[in-house]
Amino acid sequence: MTQKTTGYIEMVWSCPNCQTKNRGSVRYCSSCGAAQPKDVKFEKPIQEELITDEKKLEEAAAGPDIYCAYCGNRNPATAKNCQLCGADLNEGEARKSGTVFSGSSEPTVGTVNCGACGAENPANALACKSCGSPLNSSEKIESDPQPVKSKKRSGCLIALAVIAALLLGLIWLLSRTEEKIGTVIGKNWSTSVAIEEIVTKTDSAWRDQVPSRGSIVRCSSSVRRTSSSYIAGAEEVCGAPYYVDRGNGYSEQVQDCEYRVYDDYCDYTYKDWDVVDRANASGTDDEPYYAEPTLRQGQREGDKTVHYRVEFSSDSNGTYSFEPTTLNEYVSFQLKQQYLLEVNMINSVVTYQLKK
Ligand SMILES: [Zn+2]
Ligand SMILES: [Zn+2]
Ligand SMILES: [Zn+2]
Repeated sequence: MTQKTTGYIEMVWSCPNCQTKNRGSVRYCSSCGAAQPKDVKFEKPIQEELITDEKKLEEAAAGPDIYCAYCGNRNPATAKNCQLCGADLNEGEARKSGTVFSGSSEPTVGTVNCGACGAENPANALACKSCGSPLNSSEKIESDPQPVKSKKRSGCLIALAVIAALLLGLIWLLSRTEEKIGTVIGKNWSTSVAIEEIVTKTDSAWRDQVPSRGSIVRCSSSVRRTSSSYIAGAEEVCGAPYYVDRGNGYSEQVQDCEYRVYDDYCDYTYKDWDVVDRANASGTDDEPYYAEPTLRQGQREGDKTVHYRVEFSSDSNGTYSFEPTTLNEYVSFQLKQQYLLEVNMINSVVTYQLKK
């Protein structure tokens, strides 16, 4: 995500001496003259107006204010010496900054009523124009931590752990074997020859990845990639604005943005060989063969497959199967021969040995 600064707002602080509300840039209470103490927090004005004044913008962009180690006075980040007592500010303490908070979800109200006399005042006023009481035009910041993302991930982790446990259980089950004495009660083979034809297939890809033999049917604009950093010409998608306290009486208005690059995603058709039929053969003897398919014009033979299978039965009425991988192995089994078998939980033969 790119953090985009969309402006600055000026905060408000309440004087602990006389309750007067002051603008964030004001360091001494406008009513009683007291300096803003370190522990007096800035409040968010209910009217979130972006500042336009050049001097204020410069102050807002500067770092957090520094508290003098000797007299406790609040000084701008640019000051070298305390503006009140002249002490070196290298030993001072920077005001806490970086607190993140959200803007108001409701549209800004135009007016605020005085709690003392009830007079209606503009929402950006700090003191009642009628009686001078501080107005309810700012609120304490409730720091709003960034959205929690770990929940979804932990859900995923649990799902993964369950799948892993199931897999391990299956492996354990399949790896458990029993010994049996089995008699060969049957054997069979089956072969298959693919018959192929050129057919029209469809697929989809980004326009520049459509193969040259493909012909494009239709395209639509889709997001090809998303970048967290700025890309010229890309679509900018930004989240709701929020604020970051700068520790100098101002807060930065920020939006998290990403950049979406669009491209043509296309459906296309192309000609390719594909299996349209199979010629199958099977038997129970020791001489497997492949069927010879009758090919029509434009057809060809494709891949050939062969499968062998031997069936055993045991005294305890169980039946077990084994799939030899070669013809030699297949023909080595004779009907009625007895074998010492190791079988797994799904009745497949894992190892065999001719019983003497
Ligand atoms: Zn005051
Ligand atoms: Zn000082
Ligand atoms: Zn009033």
